[in-house]
Amino acid sequence: MINIQNYINGKLSDPLDKQFLDVWNPSNGQKFARCPNSNRKDLTLAVESAKNAFLDWSSLNQNQRSDYLLSIANEIKVNIEKFSRAESIDNGKPLNLSKSLDIPRSIKNLEFFADLAKDVESHTFHQNDVKSHIIKQPLGIVGTISPWNLPLYLFTWKIAPALVTGNCVIAKPSELTPYTAYLLSKVCIKVNLPNGVLNILHGEGTSVGKEIVKHKDIKAISFTGGTKTGQEIGVEASKSLKKINLEMGGKNPVIIFDDCDYDKMMESLVRSSFLNQGQICLAGSRIYVQEKIYDKFKNDFIAKVNKLRIGDPFDSNVDQGAIVSSNHLDKISKYVDYAKKNGGAILAGGETAKIEGDCYNGWFYKPTVIEGLPQESKVNQEEIFGPVVTITKFYEDHEAIQMANNTQYGLASILWTQNINKAHKLAELVESGLVWVNCWLERDLRTPFGGIKKSGFGKEGGKYALDFFTETKNICTKYYDK
Ligand code: NAD
Repeated sequence: MINIQNYINGKLSDPLDKQFLDVWNPSNGQKFARCPNSNRKDLTLAVESAKNAFLDWSSLNQNQRSDYLLSIANEIKVNIEKFSRAESIDNGKPLNLSKSLDIPRSIKNLEFFADLAKDVESHTFHQNDVKSHIIKQPLGIVGTISPWNLPLYLFTWKIAPALVTGNCVIAKPSELTPYTAYLLSKVCIKVNLPNGVLNILHGEGTSVGKEIVKHKDIKAISFTGGTKTGQEIGVEASKSLKKINLEMGGKNPVIIFDDCDYDKMMESLVRSSFLNQGQICLAGSRIYVQEKIYDKFKNDFIAKVNKLRIGDPFDSNVDQGAIVSSNHLDKISKYVDYAKKNGGAILAGGETAKIEGDCYNGWFYKPTVIEGLPQESKVNQEEIFGPVVTITKFYEDHEAIQMANNTQYGLASILWTQNINKAHKLAELVESGLVWVNCWLERDLRTPFGGIKKSGFGKEGGKYALDFFTETKNICTKYYDK
């Protein structure tokens, strides 16, 4: 059993009240670690250490802070195998995916913000004998709260811009997947990150998560997770007028027009539906296909989905690993059972998968395709966050846009057509913060990232993240002749 510890004031420690949570390996249903279930007392220590560290950290010049991030990135790079294995044990995702997406992107997050921060321009306005110099300053102590689906990827996506702009950070990874954040705390010790600059507290959202949001000395919360949690955090954080950035759930439409590049679309669609077992906020879970190609599409898509190999995340031949927890597996099963009872035709999957051998007790669900559900069905309205998609036929463009927009969510949309004029026109009409045309998951880290409607509040990415973690100040000076 691995004993995951908090990282407070530059040291690893057990929680003060010695409360722990079990951490499970989803691919075999076994406990493999315990992690702290921290509370307000642990948070108090972390905030004190962050306060002590803030002046020195924020006084470092930009290159010095960036260099620390680069050292952390480099250490992860050297240990990429170890981090990738840890991510797959903890989350159940295929090792191939941890190695090709999660950990490389975590490294890139740190490197990207280390570089970007060096290029920030400062502005000065002149008006007669008055000069206004605009500066950006760190907020102080900030909190980051992240989910389990891309554990280290989203953890670093938040701490990197927060640290590089001179803040001290209290970071809470998901209690379901604490392992790589723990490994990262060891890296911070190795590279001599000054004590208290980053504090990593493990535990449940309802214990330490809530306390972070409430704490009067924490100036901002950057959150990624479910919409219900985001709403609760928004309400609580507003009481102390904290800055908030909320990245929340999605129910993303994929609109496939009959003039698309069919082969490219099909290849991408299988990924956008089922990568990471569909547990990606940006996954396309509602697929709308134009009538002329619908029947062919249906046959081809089902054939491809049925070929996906599910199994041990450490087997290099698998496409699909395990679902993160038994609770989440139940949630997915219930949605599919509901679909079955309410007129949905299950074209592929529709049940849990049993894997022979070491993974027999693991939590696996077959990639599932459902047809024939009304748009108002909760299966088309609520986020399932698993390997489940619905397919629906449409005739006219406006009909597809109307169905695409018919949810409370607005994170991402995906359009497949070779008519770029049409794509741009329709991209303006779909209600989402991000629209991919003829692609999926292409990310330029300089671009704004975040949903609209109930998917997001504020933007991450590039300078948007640097802005979030800084306060803008105007130093206005009048100059006299003598
Ligand atoms: P979740 O909301 O249950 O938990 C997210 C984090 O918030 C965890 O660290 C959890 O411990 C913490 N938390 C829970 N309740 C809290 C509270 N009251 N106060 C403070 N912290 C609290 O979400 P999850 O199940 O971990 O993640 C899945 C969700 O994340 C999905 O809805 C998915 O769409 C969303 N997500 C969104 C994005 C995005 O960029 N929009 C990216 C990834 C995941």
